Amino acid sequence: MAVKNKRRAVVDESSCVACGCCMRVCPLSAIQIWRGIRAQVDAERCVGCGRCAKECPASVIELQEVRS
Ligand code: SF4
Ligand code: SF4
Repeated sequence: MAVKNKRRAVVDESSCVACGCCMRVCPLSAIQIWRGIRAQVDAERCVGCGRCAKECPASVIELQEVRS
């Protein structure tokens, strides 16, 4: 059986400024601001659309290939 790859958003937590821009644009509500200090992606919900990465003013989100 073929293994599907998909992308998932990954946040550089040390550089996130917790502005919440990514959270507001995510169509799957896959991002929360953890304790008001950094963005946290729910990998089960994320579909890798990339909207959050485009929106992040600090450019600290990248999309990584994952096996599902
Ligand atoms: S890549 Fe898309 S689905 Fe995943 S966290 Fe970012 S905006 Fe949400
Ligand atoms: S948009 Fe970027 S800096 Fe702002 S909360 Fe999301 S990951 Fe952090």
